[in-house]
Amino acid sequence: MLALELARASGARIKTGVTVTGFRVHGDRVRGVTTTDGNIEAETVVIAAGPLSGPVGELAGLELPLATVRRQKLIMPDVPQIPEGAPMTIDFETGAHWRPTGTGAHALWTAPAPAEPPVDDVPTSASFAFGLLDPSSDHALARIVPFWKDVWASSRLQWWLQAGQYTYTPDRRPLLGPTLIPGLAVNTGYSGHGIMGSIGGSRRAIDAITGKLRAVDNPFRPDRPMESRAFDVL
Ligand SMILES: Cc1cc2nc3c(=O)[nH]c(=O)nc-3n(C[C@H](O)[C@H](O)[C@H](O)COP(=O)(O)OP(=O)(O)OC[C@H]3O[C@@H](n4cnc5c(N)ncnc54)[C@H](O)[C@@H]3O)c2cc1C
Repeated sequence: MLALELARASGARIKTGVTVTGFRVHGDRVRGVTTTDGNIEAETVVIAAGPLSGPVGELAGLELPLATVRRQKLIMPDVPQIPEGAPMTIDFETGAHWRPTGTGAHALWTAPAPAEPPVDDVPTSASFAFGLLDPSSDHALARIVPFWKDVWASSRLQWWLQAGQYTYTPDRRPLLGPTLIPGLAVNTGYSGHGIMGSIGGSRRAIDAITGKLRAVDNPFRPDRPMESRAFDVL
């Protein structure tokens, strides 16, 4: 919803179902892209391909410091046990958390996981759901919110899983603005915070591209020196 509304309000022309297959380069400058639906010329090309930003950057000879890690979300459309007005609840010791949505809830667990190659269609695994729902699990939602035991015992519970990949940078901060390749910029590497960070991040990326934000004042410039940071709990 957020992405659709931002797209509508921007007034930009948007093509869906089209894949960027390469870059058009004149001299040392990127001048556009080749796609499955023809070529597009542009003064500046911005790579904003989420987990696939690394492979897309490689098409232009750009190496981005990105690692992709699988993350799953448990979706339960109807959980009558949730009290009215229940808040998003995080178990900071384990990273397990849930939030009410409509008549149900979404639940996640973001334990450290190995980096995997970036893919478009990320597989789910049922053990993720049982790890959150089974009260005997060491990161069960029921550890700090007891009504989840009733949810587990209920024969009515329906759920399904979605999966995607977090796109991590070494310092867990995004890469925003022009790269060292003239005409090529990035807006990626949100390290799991790309919904919350997208509006401010994209504003910065645009300001950095247009020169309103100088490279020295941009803490997210893609070629910054980076200190490795630990994974966030969320
Ligand atoms: C399970 C899960 C839960 C999450 N929960 C939260 C949360 O609660 N809060 C939060 O802030 N963030 C959350 N995130 C992270 C958030 O989803 C991402 O940070 C955000 O979607 C990144 O946005 P993006 O635009 O950089 O990339 P994406 O949303 O991945 O968009 C990239 C787009 O580029 C397209 N693309 C890729 N390659 C090409 C190509 N060659 N040509 C054309 N198009 C291409 C893709 O199809 C895709 O549409 C979650 C992520 C996961 C996986």
